[in-house]
Formats: sequence, structure tokens, C-alpha cells
Amino acid sequence: MLRSLLKICIWVTICCLISTPGYAAQTTITDVRLGLHKDKTRFVIEIDQKPEYKIFFLPNPDRLVIDMQEVNWLDEATSKKGVGLIESYRYGLFRQGTSRIVLDLKTPVKILRETILPPTDKKPYRFFIDIAKTDQAQFAKSVEESRKRQVAAIKPRQENVPIPRSQLKHTIIVDAGHGGIDPGAIGKSGIYEKKLTLAVAKKLKTELEKDNRYRVILTRDRDTFLSLRERVDIAREYKGDLFISVHADSIGRSDIRGSTVYTCLKMHQMRKRQHWQQIMTRRM
Ligand SMILES: [Zn+2]
Repeated sequence: MLRSLLKICIWVTICCLISTPGYAAQTTITDVRLGLHKDKTRFVIEIDQKPEYKIFFLPNPDRLVIDMQEVNWLDEATSKKGVGLIESYRYGLFRQGTSRIVLDLKTPVKILRETILPPTDKKPYRFFIDIAKTDQAQFAKSVEESRKRQVAAIKPRQENVPIPRSQLKHTIIVDAGHGGIDPGAIGKSGIYEKKLTLAVAKKLKTELEKDNRYRVILTRDRDTFLSLRERVDIAREYKGDLFISVHADSIGRSDIRGSTVYTCLKMHQMRKRQHWQQIMTRRM
């Protein structure tokens, strides 16, 4: 059943890696609520420790993003329907130490108020964000301000210390697609693509390392989000000889089986999926 829905695609390109140790979050989000008011939509989270957060906006589609310390989620679901100005919202681990909540917006919005209420006898911390409708120009301005703040805050990733390249071994970077807040495709049985790709990537590493000509590095070895840019940067940093990105697409047709291979020979083309598709081969 799953196999009939999911096709494993392996993207091959020249080039790079990272692994992070297991780590348990100490903070727990105990409730998430939405409030619909005449002039605003309210987003509330209840959290057992004070949230250390950053809010920013992303365009196309319009989103409001809240990054905070790594948290446990009481609720297993990672995506929910919204109300008012919020179409839906998603949450999950963004990267080690950071969890992310994404509000998918129905319209450009501005923040009216963000407040943290201290715990009481009965309630933990409550973090409120009130949003209201705004125009496209104002939203674009907020996006640009967010972008500038983000760029200023970028620090080198500690865990990406380059490993000296072995003279004897070829370095193969195995990249498990999706992860963290991005589940990828969802199979008929409900399995997330991100889980499948991680399992395949680990197995591939084990198999490839049986041949001692290869050193294999995983871009992720746990359920964490990596942007495409981060995956490429890792590849470059570690001077990988071969980059294999593992995906398991769902196309919703049980009569189609097989694999898709996208190849890309130049590093600078890696970020353009469009280019990969032009030269793909497909067998079904
Ligand atoms: Zn995928």
C-alpha cells in the first residue's frame, strides 16, 4: 500500500553534511488556541517556561513565523486548521535548539500586540499574539524588516566544523529529504516522508560504508528541519564528491510505481529544482 503510493526518488549531484546528537527539550507547550474577534485574530500558546521567541514574516504565501527555544509538543499533530485571518498553522522542530510555529495567513497582517502573561496557580505562561489585516505594501515592509533582522542574527553553526577530507576515501553526502516542521508527502497509511527518507538515508549509509572506499555523511540523523540552502552549504563545506538527496514522493495514484532520478552535475545548479527536472529520467 505504502509502496504503491510512494516512489523513492534519488537526486544525485556533485558535492557534501552534519550530524547532531540526540537532545530532549525541557520546555513544553501545553495548549494552543485561536480566538476570533471582530477586529483581530488572537493566537495563544500555553507554555510551562517563559518563551524566548522571535517573530518574522515571510511572503508568497504570506506567513507569520514564531521561532522559540526547543519545545515538546503535547499534541502529536503537526498541522491544524485556523480561524479568522489564520488559514492554518503548523509546528515542529526547526533545528537543534529551535522550534518553529508557522501561521499560514489568509491575508497580509500586522501585529497589534504580543504579550506574555506570567503563570498563575492554575495556568502556565500564556503567550498572546494579536494580528489584524493590513495592506500588501505594509506587509512587504514587515517582510523586509524581518529579513534584515534574520541576516543580522545569523551566526556560524557550531556543529558544522569541517572534517579534514580523507585522501583515501570519497565523501558521499546522503541527505534525508524534509524533516522537523516539514513532513514532506504523507503516505496512505499516514507515514510522513521525512521518516521514510531518514530511515532510507541511514540504511544507505550502512550499506555504502561496507565499502571502505567511501566515507558517508548524513545531512541529518534526526527529525530536524534543514533548509535547501543549509544542505547545499554543508555539501560545499565538507567537499563531498557525491550528494544524494533521498525523497519519497506521493502522487496519489496506486497504479504508478518506480523511481525518479534527478541528476545535476554542477553545484551552482543544485538550488534550482527546475533544472534538475529538465534532465531527469523516469522509469515506471
Ligand atoms: Zn520530498
